[in-house]
This record gives sequence, structure tokens and C-alpha cells, in this order.
Amino acid sequence: MNQTLAAYFQATYGHPATIGVRAPGRVNLIGEHTDYNDGFCLPMAIEREVKVLAAKRADQLIRVASMEQVGVATFALSTAIAKASDPRQQWTDYVRGCAQILLAEGITLVGCDLALTGDVPLGSGLSSSAALEVAVIHALLAVAGHTLSGSVIATLGQRAENRYVGTNCGILDQLSSACGVLGQPMLMDCRTLALTPAPLPAGIAVVIADTGKRRGLVDSAYNERRQQCEAGAAALGVSHLRDVTLHGLWAAAQAGTLSAQALRRCEHVVAENGRTQAAFACLQAGDAPALGQLMDQSHADLRDKFEVTCPELDTMVALARALPGCLGSRMTGAGFGGCAVSLVSEQHVAAFGPALTAAYRQHFDLPVAVYVTKPAAGAGRLAI
Ligand code: ADP
Ligand code: MG
Repeated sequence: MNQTLAAYFQATYGHPATIGVRAPGRVNLIGEHTDYNDGFCLPMAIEREVKVLAAKRADQLIRVASMEQVGVATFALSTAIAKASDPRQQWTDYVRGCAQILLAEGITLVGCDLALTGDVPLGSGLSSSAALEVAVIHALLAVAGHTLSGSVIATLGQRAENRYVGTNCGILDQLSSACGVLGQPMLMDCRTLALTPAPLPAGIAVVIADTGKRRGLVDSAYNERRQQCEAGAAALGVSHLRDVTLHGLWAAAQAGTLSAQALRRCEHVVAENGRTQAAFACLQAGDAPALGQLMDQSHADLRDKFEVTCPELDTMVALARALPGCLGSRMTGAGFGGCAVSLVSEQHVAAFGPALTAAYRQHFDLPVAVYVTKPAAGAGRLAI
């Protein structure tokens, strides 16, 4: 992909790139809808990524082109960069947002030409947007001669997505992309941003299955779930559900401070934080069956209590779970569509993908895809 991207850069701009960076997508093994509650997640970066090539310009312009999109967008560096007026260039809002957030931090940027390509599927819940943001921030910093830590880059990428693009995501996606550890999922503490890696158990593969269902009303439903969590925390007198126990929730429900629906939402988050920490202990102990069971429980709560699954995800998970070698399966990402993630014993993994695809096609006529991936390294420079 490097050579192709280098040729695309040269063809687009008429001169070669001088700097290359990459940033991966991510999959979350467990700990869903916990990041914005200051809780715990267990993600890993995946072997699919966004690559960006860059070359400095003598002026204050940024030009950007993607091999997955049409045309070149141009904008000037300023603390108030306009959003794309052409709907075909809306993807460039991620790039514009990253530049604006860096400038707002007081970081001096230089004009540059950027060309990018990615093989993280767009809009599947594997965080192509975070991979794009983290890669673009790396590229903008590199051409200007700056470096920042991975966690700071992740925070700035999240800010670009929250404040500029307008998606109210937590820190999970960007921090996984910026700080992924080769070969190891990581326990992520979303309050402190501390990451503690541990290897996958021997003989276990991570298999991602895209339902082909694109998230429809995800933003409004996602924001509604966030508000319900925030209201639950406020009713319990804490800033975040991280600081609540199941007993505290039940007491509040009995006292009439939490509605039945709010209780179900909060129960998922509080239990999921516990499950995620337990899942990390399973990783450390090399206990894949116990980890798989926690993943199954996570899916059940996301379906029944948090209510963010959909027939496609429930079917994919049930079909995966019934196949030989599957130790656990759950939806991953925000929900309402997108991907399921399964733990599969390596001796069964070759048969698992085709069998799951065939079984799923009997239920839904959607473009299903299966990706087997090892934990990948977080963002960094590319040799060019
Ligand atoms: P996800 O992050 O789950 O893949 P999002 O809707 O959050 O889904 O982000 C997808 C968007 O990110 C795309 O619609 C596009 O605007 C942008 N994007 C991601 N990768 C690329 C790419 N390689 N080229 C151009 N835009 C991209
Ligand atoms: Mg995204």
C-alpha cells in the first residue's frame, strides 16, 4: 500500500512525500459504553489502518486527498477553519478539525500536502474515524517538527471529533489507535488514561464479523444513552457511574431516585466495569474460556439492559457462539449495527469465518465480512 500511496501522492501533487505515518483501527473485546462513564475497556488495535503521506509547503495551506474519496480539498490554517461546504468533502472535516484543535492548543503548524488511504472499513464500528484523526494529527505534527505523547494525541483527536465533527464519542477509539500494543490487548482506565497490556491466551484468535448493517439513528440513540448515564450518576450524587456500585443503584431505585429504565441502563455500565476488570484478570491468567463467558454476559446486558443491539448483531453473535471453537462472542462498538467480536480457538479459526458467513447469509441479505486480526501496534511513523 505504501508504494501505491506514494504514487498517488506524486500524481496528485506533482512532487514526492517526505513523511509517512500510520494509525490503526481498533476492536474492543469488552467494556462497552463504559468509556464516557470514566470506566474500563479492553481494546486492541487491529491490523487495518489509515496511512498518511505528507510534504511541507512554503505557505499556510493544507491540501488533502484520500484514495477512497474523489478530489483534493484545500483550506488555510486558521483558528476558525470552515467545515467543508461540498458534501462530497465532508470526510475532510476530520482533517480540518484536527488542524483547528492543534492550533487552538497553541501548536504552530505549517502548510502541507497530505494524501491518505485506509483499509479500516468506513462506518463499521472499527474506528476508521479515530484512525484518520490520529494519523492526521501525527502527520501535521511531524511536518511541523513537533512530537506529543500518544495519550495527548488521542485526547486531541477525540476533541476534534467531539467539537468539530460533532460526534460525542468517548476516548476509547482514539486512545486504542494512538497507544495500541503489538500482540496485546490493553486494560484501559478511561479516567486516568492508564493502559495495562496483557497477551492474548495461547492458541486463541480474535475474529471480527461485520453484520453489514450500518448504524442508522446511532447518534441520537448514543446521545440518549449518554444522557441516561449522566442522569443516573447525578441522581446518585457522583460525577460518573464509575463511582457507583450495584447496591448503590438498587438502593436509589428503591428510594425512587432512578426509574426502572434508568436502573437497567446504569446496571449494564456498573456490571460491565466489573466484567472488564475480571476479563483483564482472565487475560493475565491465560483463561480464555472464562474471558469468553464474560463476553457472552456483556452481550446479554447490551441487548437486554442497555438495549443497543439489533437483530443482525444478536443473530451474528448467536450463530458465532454455536460454531465449533467459539469461546465467547459479543457486539463491539456503539451498537445498532456494525461488528461482533468472537474469541475462537486457533485450530477452528480457518473454518469459522466461512461457516459464520454462510449461516448469517441465511438470515440477512447484507454485505457480511469477517476479519481475523492480531493485536497491532499503535500509531507511528512509516519508513518511506
Ligand atoms: P467508524 O469510525 O466506525 O469507521 P465513523 O462514521 O465514525 O465510522 O467514521 C467514518 C468516516 O471517517 C467516513 O465516513 C469518512 O468521513 C472518514 N474516513 C475514515 N477513513 C477514511 C479514509 N480512508 N478516507 C477518507 N475518509 C475516511
Ligand atoms: Mg468513528
